[in-house]
Amino acid sequence: MVITHNLGFPRIGAKRELKFALESYWKGESSRDALKGLGAELRQRHWSHQSALDLTPVGDFAFYDQMLDMSFTLGNLPERVSGFHGDVLDNYFRVARGRSAKGLEDHSACCGAGDGVAAGEMTKWFDTNYHYIVPEFTAETKFALDATRLLEQLAEAKRLGVKAKPVIIGPVTYLSLGKAKDDTDKLALLPRLLPVYAELLNQLAAQGVEWVQIDEPILVTELTAEWQHAIKTAYTILVKQTTGKVKLLLATYFGQLQENLALACQLPVQGLHLDAINARAEVSAVVEQLPQDRVLSLGVINGRNIWKTDLNAVLEWLTPVAKKLGDRLWIAPSCSLLHVPVDLNSEQKLDADIRSWLAFAIQKLDELKVLATALNQGSAAVKNELEANQAAITARRTSPRANNAAVKAAVAAITAGMGQRQSAYAQRASKQATLLKLPAYPTTTIGSFPQTAEIRHARSEFKAGRLDEAGYKVAMQAEIARSVREQEALGLDVLVHGEAERNDMVEYFGEQLDGYTFSQFGWVQSYGSRCVKPPILFGDIARPKAMTVEWSRYAQSLTAKPMKGMLTGPVTILNWSFVRDDQPRSVSCYQLALAIREEVLDLEKAGVRVIQIDEAALREGLPLRKAQWQEYLGWAVESFRITANGAQDETQIHTHMCYSEFNDIIESIAGMDADVITIETSRSDMELLDAFDHFNYPNEIGPGVYDIHSPNIPTQAHIEQLMKKAAERIPAERLWVNPDCGLKTRAWEEVIPALTNMVAAAKALRNAA
Ligand code: GLN
Ligand code: ZN
Repeated sequence: MVITHNLGFPRIGAKRELKFALESYWKGESSRDALKGLGAELRQRHWSHQSALDLTPVGDFAFYDQMLDMSFTLGNLPERVSGFHGDVLDNYFRVARGRSAKGLEDHSACCGAGDGVAAGEMTKWFDTNYHYIVPEFTAETKFALDATRLLEQLAEAKRLGVKAKPVIIGPVTYLSLGKAKDDTDKLALLPRLLPVYAELLNQLAAQGVEWVQIDEPILVTELTAEWQHAIKTAYTILVKQTTGKVKLLLATYFGQLQENLALACQLPVQGLHLDAINARAEVSAVVEQLPQDRVLSLGVINGRNIWKTDLNAVLEWLTPVAKKLGDRLWIAPSCSLLHVPVDLNSEQKLDADIRSWLAFAIQKLDELKVLATALNQGSAAVKNELEANQAAITARRTSPRANNAAVKAAVAAITAGMGQRQSAYAQRASKQATLLKLPAYPTTTIGSFPQTAEIRHARSEFKAGRLDEAGYKVAMQAEIARSVREQEALGLDVLVHGEAERNDMVEYFGEQLDGYTFSQFGWVQSYGSRCVKPPILFGDIARPKAMTVEWSRYAQSLTAKPMKGMLTGPVTILNWSFVRDDQPRSVSCYQLALAIREEVLDLEKAGVRVIQIDEAALREGLPLRKAQWQEYLGWAVESFRITANGAQDETQIHTHMCYSEFNDIIESIAGMDADVITIETSRSDMELLDAFDHFNYPNEIGPGVYDIHSPNIPTQAHIEQLMKKAAERIPAERLWVNPDCGLKTRAWEEVIPALTNMVAAAKALRNAA
């Protein structure tokens, strides 16, 4: 019999119940008990959705983050919160976000814990858009088990009759994803960490647990010999210290094991989970190499996308594997379902055709059940289900909604010349200088100005149909006029229209492109209470008409200064969407590139002389393994070039990226050949410009001098000092002065003084030159 299980279920709730409960608790509007009660309610509901499984994950629920849960379980709390006397949950939120709930924090009499504390650092979970709280280590780090959370949830599951499989993050992944705050070698902590894991496993065994899922996704990344060795040691010791009282299912996901494959197969655990979506090619090798007494769990349903699985196709390759493995085969989604929305049944407004192609978390578990029934009882037992699935798959493949022959032909006809500017940067720069007449150290902003309550109100009225199109246009034009007025008064050199009409830099374009659709409740947790609702790229991408030209033309009509046209680039649109699984990402990206290229050319025709194409998410798309970076960067950079480089020499192309590490991809960034790039640098004190020591970046660059994530107003002196640092690395005639990113989340009261200082700093630098 094939066993079915799941690695994790989305915890935010089908209607984002957890988000709202957390935010209300943090605001001091509801009690801790109410929040804990909602947690229990969600767990119960989520387990009931998984009741058809043979084994259900327990411990995958987190109030904020599963890594932070693990830090608390292991007793690895940062020093700055260790003396806290209040409720553990409050301390947990203090590490997560710097503070707990409003009004709950007067501990002056006991531990002296004040209002705020530095929040734990947050970073991306592998190549997903989920962010975890980074564990902190020092040479002094000690671990001490606190299994309360896990044991309570286990007891809760038992009461509800759930066939529980506790889920924890493995010791090596835990260590490797953490950050040493001093120069401690993290691996030196392993001997201290393992006894705590052993104790945890023993406590779970004492509760009658048979299987524990222990996640070691680090195995899909490039590991040094030391880290490979650590994996081996860790599991040898753990198994010894727990004397086999509990069985371990070691879970890997998100990619191939490659050079770690033999190691993973040899570990003395009782089962291995392999992502059979991303590592399908490794299934047969693992079947060969895994010892005969081990379970092999195959992740056969994609836990990262929202498409229906082609069940017949899976059965075709899986049936012989099942024959070979017999009872040793388990099946599951490829990874935790944390990365997909909860329930397609919530979607009542989606186009019926497109809806029939989709599967969210609950539907993915239904698919799993069909597969298991087919394997256990023969396909005839699920004849109807398999036929219905086949019909949906065929309908999608052949749908005129998804297929546009002209678009496919246009991608096939892409030539190298399309990615090539007419002249090299030097010639372009001199033509642009003649036309734009900008001073030295030109000032600009990244695009958005504060999204005020009035803007949001007008947009929601318009979406709800209470404000007509003409009324909406008037409201947005008033906002554009306001931001132009403010910028002229500030004395900025290159203006922006302010993006009042955009709710989101990807959604705004997706809504106007063919091939995109939007869900109502397709929320996915990004971090803590924050969720994103990625647009769904389902078909060939085409641009029926110009998307931004009218707003840009209007904005330009209000000023004699150059007005930047503002677009989101193809790579960012792709990386922040649910994308097709029926063609390579690169093809979808080229389609987007062709659509945005048309917009660039239309803006140019409308007299826009500066066009910024944001690639905020270019870095996010980097594959997990460095060996695959070049392939990705190749098509990503080429897509940008196709988008931008049809422009005339006189048109100045800007791009913007909001992160600060690109030492390792600087050559690709230079390869985009934008005339000007603006980047985030202020917080790193221009450190990121280290990249420019070894690499002579050829074009213009605006290193951010205003940290837009902070309410603080940078002083003129500070900005000048940052720019002087920058000028040590990059010739002053190629420097721009600008904030780190868009100003959408700030208030005008902050933006005006900050930009006043920025402009004053630029003027001082010019005068000093
Ligand atoms: N142009 C966008 C803005 O200013 C860029 C946002 C981003 O890089 N994330 O809002
Ligand atoms: Zn940015």
